[in-house]
Amino acid sequence: MDNFYTILMVMEKQWVKILDQIKPMISVPNYRTWFAPSKLVSVESGVAIINVPSSFVQTNITRFLPILEPILEKVVGGEVQISFKVDPSLALKKSPIDELNDGQFDLSSPPTPPSQSLGLNPKYNLANFVVGLSNNLAYAAAQAVIQNPGVSYNPLFVYGGTGVGKTHLMHAIGNALLKKDPGVKIIYCSSERFMNDFIESIRSKQTNEFRRKYRSVNLLLIDDIQFISGRDSTQEEFFHTFNELQTKNTQIVLTSDRPPNEIQKLEARLASRFQGGLMVDIQTPDFDTRVAILRAKCQERGWGLPEESLLLIAQVMTGNARELEGKLIQIVQSLQLSHLPVTPEAVQRLLGQAKPQPQLTKLDHKKVISGINQYFNIKMSEITGPRRKKGLVLPRQLAMYLLYEECKLPYERIGEVLGGRDHTTIMHGVEKMREATQRDREVQRLLIEIKQQLST
Ligand code: ADP
Ligand code: MG
Repeated sequence: MDNFYTILMVMEKQWVKILDQIKPMISVPNYRTWFAPSKLVSVESGVAIINVPSSFVQTNITRFLPILEPILEKVVGGEVQISFKVDPSLALKKSPIDELNDGQFDLSSPPTPPSQSLGLNPKYNLANFVVGLSNNLAYAAAQAVIQNPGVSYNPLFVYGGTGVGKTHLMHAIGNALLKKDPGVKIIYCSSERFMNDFIESIRSKQTNEFRRKYRSVNLLLIDDIQFISGRDSTQEEFFHTFNELQTKNTQIVLTSDRPPNEIQKLEARLASRFQGGLMVDIQTPDFDTRVAILRAKCQERGWGLPEESLLLIAQVMTGNARELEGKLIQIVQSLQLSHLPVTPEAVQRLLGQAKPQPQLTKLDHKKVISGINQYFNIKMSEITGPRRKKGLVLPRQLAMYLLYEECKLPYERIGEVLGGRDHTTIMHGVEKMREATQRDREVQRLLIEIKQQLST
């Protein structure tokens, strides 16, 4: 044990010597963020192991290797290879210099540097971002970026229509990295803000300051990059900012309403840079995700809406998350104003869709099949044909289910009208759909929509 502590003390003393020499060579924020919380733990067989508090620090501290290596070699007296290891407990502890401070360091300021992030909204985080089929890829990409910023996916390019959660996810990345490492320097802004900042810097002859600001970050988040289109000098400036950050392995995240190759008047070299990392899209939320978003928004605001009301809203509001949230707020507010309880009936009335469930018993099978064909845009010969193409399975099974449940046709007859299929195939299809109507909200939605279409 004695030996262990002796080594530890030697390492700490050597680390203090190293820090002592590094400190005057780099900026105070850099020193505090990357070096102060780190720790030299062993030097053995030509390998020096330095523990760092997070993988984010691990990535960034490597930029200082050209300074660190010669100093370390001088202090330990020999050629060494440096290896960084993540030790999350360091994030909680005081750095060794706090304990071994011999007066050379000014440690009067708080150990956590003040936040240097610009423009981040703490309201948007990963915990309140609802994940579903429409956005799970983007969510996974955001997580990967948070784990290893600047390494795997640089830039991360998130695109999708309005109100689907691009800005939310972008702030969430920033907030997560800030939480991991409060000293991290982040800029979040729209591309318009970048452009105005740039133009203003030219006007006031402060372009150097502008460049220093945008090129010294550890994470750059530019929202709605599509607005850079047609702005030649801003595109040029952004190109250089982008390159410099990328060379330093600094993570860049961009959002846009469309993929880079569809942005008009975007320089080809920028488009190709944007495509060089990871591109993910977010789509409008499916039924399940819509319900989950409504649930999350109610929880955030402390509203206890019955689940059935949420389902009703999600059925009618098939657009993006922003519209969904807007409708929810509107409904709750008008019910509050009129002092009405939140019942499914009241919600339905406000949604203006008080249609009863359509009954199809009077329909003949031809109308059902052609209704389904129309809904899925497929031909009669396809739905009744022998092909087992994937896209035809669902429409066929929905047809089987509706013909059985609503038109009350026997299995054999359904087999005949669907192109001579065996009655066991029909039984199987009907069962599958019956099961799906219990747990698959997308199927429930499809059925409602098709029935509504058939009843008009
Ligand atoms: P975009 O930037 O794609 O136009 P936003 O990120 O501004 O969309 O999202 C619009 C609103 O919808 C915000 O209030 C946001 O919190 C909410 N929202 C979008 N997607 C989700 C989601 N998956 N989970 C929770 N809220 C979401
Ligand atoms: Mg946005």
